[in-house]
Amino acid sequence: MSPIELAIIGIFGLWIGWLIDWIVNQMPREDHWHNPGVCPNCGEKHQNWLRWIPILRHVGREKCPGCDHLYGRRGFIIELVTAVSILVIAQVFGWSWMMLWYILTVIILVPIATIDIEFQIIPDSLLLFGLIPLAGLWITNYSSELLTFIIGGLVLGLGLLTVSIVGRWIYKQDVMGFGDVKFVAWMGLILGWKIGLVALGLGFLLATAVFLVLMPLGKVRLKQEVPFGPFLVGGMFLGMVYGRTLLDWYLNNFVYI
Ligand SMILES: [Zn+2]
Repeated sequence: MSPIELAIIGIFGLWIGWLIDWIVNQMPREDHWHNPGVCPNCGEKHQNWLRWIPILRHVGREKCPGCDHLYGRRGFIIELVTAVSILVIAQVFGWSWMMLWYILTVIILVPIATIDIEFQIIPDSLLLFGLIPLAGLWITNYSSELLTFIIGGLVLGLGLLTVSIVGRWIYKQDVMGFGDVKFVAWMGLILGWKIGLVALGLGFLLATAVFLVLMPLGKVRLKQEVPFGPFLVGGMFLGMVYGRTLLDWYLNNFVYI
């Protein structure tokens, strides 16, 4: 990809992130669609055209001058993460069907992680949208090896369902929500069982790494309910981009047949 193509895709990614932040903002209040750039607390409009520009709209905008409502940095992070993820996909896969379907998958992954962090749920509606890149991938790329992907959905979904049931039996509380089970089944259908398992492993590794860092800092405690979705999302993204390479490397170095 040329620098100009990447620049255009990057700017597109920032605006997609802007849109995702706006849509996620509607989640807790279904009664009305508030305008971007309008204080959600007092409804005062403090920004004009700048509110349409990702990244720049956050500069010098810490809190509402009318009511001191803190705006937070979530929108900024969403815009940046979306743009960078889309750029990585574009750079790795180039202009192809794969790039299109994976970018669409990223557009679904970002709000899944955000909503899981804020509300501890993975909405079915987002997983339903996830059927679009799934169908696309199956038709344009995997039509000759569909079994791998159907097995992926079954193995990962049923595997996590078992973990969830056994976990509840042992700990007498939910260790894993049913949303996570559905998400992982969807991931298996998109990645196939081999890369799907790599992605799941990476998700668990990410979760473990973050816990090992946060526990000594006192930010999280054992048995505290922590959304698992963002780690699964991270694992799935890494699986999409590096799963094939990681798998080949592992098979070449550690498996002797
Ligand atoms: Zn306000």
